[in-house]
Amino acid sequence: MNIDILLGKTQEHLVPLEGTKFFIHRQMLHDFLKLQQSAKNEGFDLQIISAFRDYDRQLKIWNAKARGERPLMDDQERVLNFSTLSPTEIVFAILRWSAIPGCSRHHWGSDIDVYDRKMQAPEEVKLVPSECIENGPAALLHNWLDDQISQNKAFGFFRPYSTDRGGISPERWHLSYYPISRRIIDSYTFSIFKKNILESEVLLKEIILENAEEIFERYIMNFDLP
Ligand SMILES: [Zn+2]
Repeated sequence: MNIDILLGKTQEHLVPLEGTKFFIHRQMLHDFLKLQQSAKNEGFDLQIISAFRDYDRQLKIWNAKARGERPLMDDQERVLNFSTLSPTEIVFAILRWSAIPGCSRHHWGSDIDVYDRKMQAPEEVKLVPSECIENGPAALLHNWLDDQISQNKAFGFFRPYSTDRGGISPERWHLSYYPISRRIIDSYTFSIFKKNILESEVLLKEIILENAEEIFERYIMNFDLP
């Protein structure tokens, strides 16, 4: 395994998705197009809202949240009062919704966030749980995806954040392509994780290092399998 792929530091494994600004793993393209066509046959316009994200982009997201420049949310999608949080509380509040740079599945090109463009314009998509359940605009698409995944008809895609495992918040919009993401996660060791943090410009680094074992187990290795 190329560690640069794991950490989001290369794009050599990616291809552009035609007609979009997104890049995905070369070996996933064919099966993604099949999933998209299969959705289309059922009346859905399954589109990507987020795909590959590189290390530097994730670093900017993390550091903006660590400085209080981007809102931190609780589980009920309510904005937290940044000024009342301790540094440790800030780290764990960010981790619920965003990964440390080098730790995002979006680095791999195998993971995507999706929505139904028939129901929502891309600029309206917020990627919050309420969009994907009950009367939310992406709920029917995700109900259909549940059926496809459970019947093994999702062309290798599954939901790593389907249930609340006490780590990353459930993210129904997030799909992962098992044949690739499995290989990558299998090679992700604690020593790779720790070395990445030590060499990173990530803010709140001391807190992350103090809690390194817990963070690795709870937010990286802790996800639903197909
Ligand atoms: Zn995602």
